[in-house]
Amino acid sequence: MPTYEYECQQCHQRVEAVQSFSDEPLTICESCGGELRKVFSGVGIAFKGSGFYKTDNRPSSSD
Ligand SMILES: [Zn+2]
Repeated sequence: MPTYEYECQQCHQRVEAVQSFSDEPLTICESCGGELRKVFSGVGIAFKGSGFYKTDNRPSSSD
């Protein structure tokens, strides 16, 4: 069975779940009740260190 990895958007805890394709995806963090998002490995989205990049709301830089 495939293993899915989720990350809580609130406490950023990683959760691994072994689910079949027909299972409902996890949506709620059991630790804090926050929203879980699926983590897709190997897609090129890397969260390194404590922070991560935000592409929106950048300070205006005119060139
Ligand atoms: Zn959480």
